[in-house]
Amino acid sequence: MSAITIALGGAVAASTAGAARSTSGRSVAKKSAVQVSTRNATVCRVIQDVTSSMDVGSSIDTDAEMRRRMVQMDTAKTLRKTIDAMGGTMIQDPAAFVSTDFQRAVTTGLFASCAALVARGGVGIEMAGDGGDPAAWASLVGSGLLAYWLSDLGTGVFHWSVDNYGSKATPVMGGIIDAFQGHHKYPWTITKRQFANNIHTTCPATMCVTVPLLLTPGLAPDTCAFMGVFCSMIVLSQQFHAWSHMKKSQLPEIVVKLQDLGVLISRKGHGAHHRPPFEGNYCIVSGWWNPILDDNKFFNKMEKVVFEATGVAPRCWSETHDFDVEEEAPEGWGKEYNL
Ligand SMILES: [Zn+2]
Ligand SMILES: [Zn+2]
Repeated sequence: MSAITIALGGAVAASTAGAARSTSGRSVAKKSAVQVSTRNATVCRVIQDVTSSMDVGSSIDTDAEMRRRMVQMDTAKTLRKTIDAMGGTMIQDPAAFVSTDFQRAVTTGLFASCAALVARGGVGIEMAGDGGDPAAWASLVGSGLLAYWLSDLGTGVFHWSVDNYGSKATPVMGGIIDAFQGHHKYPWTITKRQFANNIHTTCPATMCVTVPLLLTPGLAPDTCAFMGVFCSMIVLSQQFHAWSHMKKSQLPEIVVKLQDLGVLISRKGHGAHHRPPFEGNYCIVSGWWNPILDDNKFFNKMEKVVFEATGVAPRCWSETHDFDVEEEAPEGWGKEYNL
């Protein structure tokens, strides 16, 4: 009972922190937040002292967890209200950016199937008695590199299609289309998503390719390696994309190095996609294909073919992009989940 009262006290204090923020500015909010955690820390000490001679360890854990959740829920609710009151912009729910067990499972399944495909390529060389032949292994590695190079082109075509055609209401692809199109107004959201949360959307469809391939008898080792690398790059491209939207200071050193070397799409390379005329730079693995496709007006030609065949014009022919782009997350957004 006392624990519940204490938990409510913590939640009220957090709520006060939010209220102070909305009326008196950020510095006040910061100070109040510190007061909340200090208060809870004190409370924890008192409980532990009282029960230290009793065998109720598990109930202490439960109470602490409940207190933590109540404070967290209340802080999130207050922050969302504050953000809404500040600008009237779309409210993004931070809870929707946290990876779920399902998202982790589907992501793990996809990468396991890709790894199994590459491994099958190696096993295939051994089984064929070519294990000692450097040319066989060079061919396998070459297939992987070719897949990496072509995956950039694959993401370009895919990105172009979901940016320009369909809507949230489109069957099967609606969610992905909505996410890509919304990304142009809220580029910051991609930088806040946890790993599995960000990349899981393409995993089920990609597994529809990798799993049947794994079960197909008689595949050449090079084909296995190519498809394993290609499919994993297609899925990972969404993470490379997220990194290209982040500041260098927010990224691991190795990622910055790979971006600088041109192995991964750079901030500058992808930034051009978000600037007028908004009709190119769709590739998001390495970006090597962007100048090739854009200089040759590849997508423009594709758009004309689609228009002549179906009468459907791409969004980039008419979209004005006259909305305010939110480059940065609202101050304090997602803090309760360390986003
Ligand atoms: Zn786009
Ligand atoms: Zn982007």
